[in-house]
Amino acid sequence: NSFWSNVEMGPPDPILGVTEAFKRDSNPKKINLGVGAYRSDEGKPFVLESVKKADEMILKEKLDKEYAPISGIAEFCQASAKLAFGDDSNVIKNQTNATVQGISGTGSLRIGAAFLAKWFQGNKTIWLPNPSWGNHTPIMKHAGLDVKAYRYYDSKTIGFDFKGAIEDINNIPENSIILFHACAHNPTGVDPQNDQWNELSSVVKKRNLLVFMDMAYQGFASGNIDQDAYAVRQFVKDNHNILLAQSYAKNMGLYGERVGALSVVCNDKEEVDRVMSQLKIIIRPMYSNPPIGGARIAAKILTNPDLRQLWLKEVKQMADRIITMRKQLVSNLNKAGSQKNWQHITNQIGMFCFTGLNAQQVERLTKEFSIYLTKDGRISMAGITSKNNEYLANAMHECTK
Ligand code: PMP
Repeated sequence: NSFWSNVEMGPPDPILGVTEAFKRDSNPKKINLGVGAYRSDEGKPFVLESVKKADEMILKEKLDKEYAPISGIAEFCQASAKLAFGDDSNVIKNQTNATVQGISGTGSLRIGAAFLAKWFQGNKTIWLPNPSWGNHTPIMKHAGLDVKAYRYYDSKTIGFDFKGAIEDINNIPENSIILFHACAHNPTGVDPQNDQWNELSSVVKKRNLLVFMDMAYQGFASGNIDQDAYAVRQFVKDNHNILLAQSYAKNMGLYGERVGALSVVCNDKEEVDRVMSQLKIIIRPMYSNPPIGGARIAAKILTNPDLRQLWLKEVKQMADRIITMRKQLVSNLNKAGSQKNWQHITNQIGMFCFTGLNAQQVERLTKEFSIYLTKDGRISMAGITSKNNEYLANAMHECTK
């Protein structure tokens, strides 16, 4: 008899399962469109030049390996808040951000959720877009929040259901929490336009909802960090005291370094101090203090003017490659003879594309063509290269005739 005879087998992670199936396939033409990590046009993982340079500079400084404070490396937190809110933001000028370093985007969301579960005075229900990133619900529930959903994606237009979203948000009980993907919505790649963000902000204000912004892709969507921060900055201008989770996994390619930040926007500095004290009380029993390596790299890139310039160029390169792959995919679909409207592929933005393919079509893609993706028809644009684009388009056409 074992202590663990009662432990049930849990279901495998739906996304990581795709990669495992891909690895088992011996077809040389196989394509993995499941992974949420950027790949070069050669299909290889990509380490940014700015990251390599930052690494070298840090190595030369021969820094010690002492613990970071509970709230992380202060210089990193400050630079991170500036990147999100903008140098000229009132939040930065008046120092009304309580910002802590988090274990990438996931950990930052988790700290924010725990803070809300403990201190938010309204309804402890967080409303997520439908659909949302698969990890949002478990993160929020794990922290003790209830999870509900508002309409977001319209399967008929393969676009943003603006009317549905506004209608649903108008009916959310006042003093609840709402989550938005700040840019490059995962899994759909469908983002609101700027004027739609403005209206969302005003409806959210009317309902007196607390906004939790998840910004995992700043710069990665359009190639421009300011444009991608539009929603965050607009909500702040409209006097929403938002929570913001940031990740440097995608835009700096620091996936495994786990670098992120959580900011709570406050009314004044005295409030910041109180909020900071509680964020630290949440972090301390979870992991004491965050890792220093990745945060040092991110801080170096954000604060060294040369490195920052180089990084901005590289972010744009990554975004541009993805945008080019979108255009090529549509043109290859047309060349293959597809009569379908594929415009959503180029309208969508960021790492992912909701193709509109159904579960049967996805199954055919995998079985007949060794193309691996999640059942919902989501493809990671980063897995597409100029070499496999045409093969993918032909296969998509074959399965959607
Ligand atoms: N939010 C969203 C919407 C994401 O897509 C991701 C990455 N898949 C994250 C947060 C966080 O990822 P990480 O913890 O690797 O930064």
